[in-house]
Amino acid sequence: MILVFLGPPGAGKGTQAKILEDRFGYRQISTGDMLRKHRADKTALGLEAQSYMDAGKLVPDDLVIRMVEAELANADNIIVDGFPRTIPQADAFDAVLARKGLDAVAVIFDVDYNVLAERITGRWSNPRTGRVYHAKFNPPKQAGIDDEDGGPLVQRPDDAADVVTKRLVEYDEKTTPLIAHYEKRGDFVHVNGLGEIDDVTRAIIAKLPDVGKPIVSTS
Ligand code: ADP
Ligand code: ADP
Repeated sequence: MILVFLGPPGAGKGTQAKILEDRFGYRQISTGDMLRKHRADKTALGLEAQSYMDAGKLVPDDLVIRMVEAELANADNIIVDGFPRTIPQADAFDAVLARKGLDAVAVIFDVDYNVLAERITGRWSNPRTGRVYHAKFNPPKQAGIDDEDGGPLVQRPDDAADVVTKRLVEYDEKTTPLIAHYEKRGDFVHVNGLGEIDDVTRAIIAKLPDVGKPIVSTS
């Protein structure tokens, strides 16, 4: 199964992707995490992407598509989180899947924009693994330290309130058309992203029962 997580910044996409990865063996492909790694490693792609990211703008399609294509070589049982974000990206992704004879299901996170600011300003993440916490809604056992690997947690510079406003404008203009794109194809579910983290996971599995069947058996 291939899941495309669609929703505005702070909707809970990364949180749910990690839960499904941990519990059922999916592989999360987060273009945001990949871009941040490129920046940390100071690759040519990272250097090109950084001014867009810092301004709350989307990185140009050709850069993102090129970056993600290699990851899609092994495309089954993946969750794409934060990709596609524009119609050209969706077309490129559809073409890759068509070549492989695979279909994707879009999981559309329905949230009220007025919860996003509090979620995003309280977000702490592990830059190495992309695992996210929240100071109030999902705190780590020890402030600033990842429960999983003991690594330091940081706040993202683009999670500052003024940049978040710009990211939401980008989302409205460039990404919301993808909702109609997936609805038209018929492979989509809406989930209420407003509940507690566990409720959202339950809602995804209730809508897509196959998601809850472990890919990698642990028994
Ligand atoms: P996205 O990947 O869609 O930008 P995240 O998964 O990073 O969103 O979540 C944004 C912030 O909100 C994080 O700090 C996360 O811990 C928190 N969060 C995620 N889901 C929920 C939820 N259902 N209720 C409250 N806080 C949440
Ligand atoms: P969030 O999880 O809050 O939605 P991301 O980590 O996915 O944020 O994205 C952070 C930034 O990285 C975006 O504001 C954008 O600049 C860039 N980015 C991530 N994914 C894409 C993409 N698919 N296309 C263009 N830019 C992207």
